[in-house]
Amino acid sequence: MSDWQDNRVFWDEALKHIEHQVSEQEFVMWFQQIQYTRSEEQTITVAVPSSFYRDQVKQRYLDLIESKLHELSGRSFQIDFEIERAEYTAPARKRSGPASVKSASNNPATGESTKHAVTATRSPAPKPDRRQSAPGLSAEYTFEHFVVGDNNRFAANAAMAIANNPGTTYNPCLIYGGVGLGKTHLLQSIGNSVWQRDAEQRIVYVTAEDFTNEFIRSIQENRTHMFKNKYRNADVLLIDDIHFLQKKNETQEELFHTFNALFDAKKQMVFTSDRPVSEIKDITERLQNRFTRGLTVDLQPPQTETAIAILKKKAEKTGIHVPDDVINLICQKITTNVRDLEAALTRIIAYAELVNKEVSVDVAQRQLKDFFSSPLQNNITVDVIQRTVADYFNLSPNELKGKKRTRQVAFPRQIAMFIAREITEASMTDIGLEFGGRDHTTVMHAYQRVESRMRTDPTIEDVLQTLNRRIKEEGSRA
Ligand code: ADP
Ligand code: MG
Repeated sequence: MSDWQDNRVFWDEALKHIEHQVSEQEFVMWFQQIQYTRSEEQTITVAVPSSFYRDQVKQRYLDLIESKLHELSGRSFQIDFEIERAEYTAPARKRSGPASVKSASNNPATGESTKHAVTATRSPAPKPDRRQSAPGLSAEYTFEHFVVGDNNRFAANAAMAIANNPGTTYNPCLIYGGVGLGKTHLLQSIGNSVWQRDAEQRIVYVTAEDFTNEFIRSIQENRTHMFKNKYRNADVLLIDDIHFLQKKNETQEELFHTFNALFDAKKQMVFTSDRPVSEIKDITERLQNRFTRGLTVDLQPPQTETAIAILKKKAEKTGIHVPDDVINLICQKITTNVRDLEAALTRIIAYAELVNKEVSVDVAQRQLKDFFSSPLQNNITVDVIQRTVADYFNLSPNELKGKKRTRQVAFPRQIAMFIAREITEASMTDIGLEFGGRDHTTVMHAYQRVESRMRTDPTIEDVLQTLNRRIKEEGSRA
């Protein structure tokens, strides 16, 4: 008699082992999407969200998975992958391949084969003689003004699908991505689009911070019923920057109940966060659970072509002629996020106006140089890097600087040294000193290690990007 059912135990156990073997980022990205489906004597069938995922997982991890299973069970398994597109109960997708948006193909805005950035098409025609945006929302933040590129296509398609059918397809939806990548823009676009079609719809947009403050005030002033009324009667609830809810226990509790009420009433909810929900600390598990119950999509920094398309659009709106060379230059120099791109363009235009010159490469070059040496960018110290990296990997800065050389510490330490070398003026010797008085050769070795790992493991690039963004944010706060 075979005990096929028990194969699931091996599968679960194998994943637990693998979780300790790969980086958190890798695990979240590639393993949390795999779902055990069934098994036979020698075959385990799992579901993945797209063929892209299947191919990536096979290529990167099949050996590891098979050898783990063998180690644990003493048997050889074959793994069969099934593609399971999210339909009714889309499981939490931390990151998702393009294939999983069902409505993407019948949305004219996606233009499937479009390689380059295209502009999102109009949402259903707005009725005339009406204000452009829903109360409390910015008229700037619409799908028309949002440039779709590879970095945000999945999120943009999901947002448009939601706006077309609120409360039905993807509920809730969580949009996550670093600062300045368009989270607020997309979130408000959903609200504006729903509202333009039907102004009776109660669109409630709020930042998690305002939600918290309002809630506290309502307690102080003894009118929590009004607070509850406002949020529990929304047709579409849009909450921005939910990472702010960390440690806000009572607000979390309140939101939990709001969530349940709206969810049961099939009202659409969309949330944004600057990191994956699994990385938000001090938030109750049940709320985490709710956030990721529907669809999770992410926003990445735009590639050059998309960045250029975005800036051209912004430049057009100013009515001032900005030569292509200038746009290209900005996009070459600034790769962090869209907000920084815009800030650079604004600065260049403002300067040209001030001195009554045309916007030219010359002017741009000078202004960009100042932009880079502004104190905002220079507040980044090795200390800031250590704190941010330690936090990301759930270590203390002292562990990072300390003597321990276990895998859990060694890799984050190398990453921190690498970043310090890349983005500060500190020499290898300085960096070594900041890491518990290590020798400069250790720093050099760490640098080379990360560099070579980057060549074989593309996920490191993501980790570095996330960290760079957070470090910059920390630095600008310091
Ligand atoms: P976040 O909320 O993620 O920090 P925002 O939504 O505030 O970012 O975006 C920052 C700025 O960049 C806004 O002015 C927004 O309009 C602009 N932006 C971001 N992504 C795009 C895009 N794809 N197309 C056009 N503008 C964009
Ligand atoms: Mg925002």
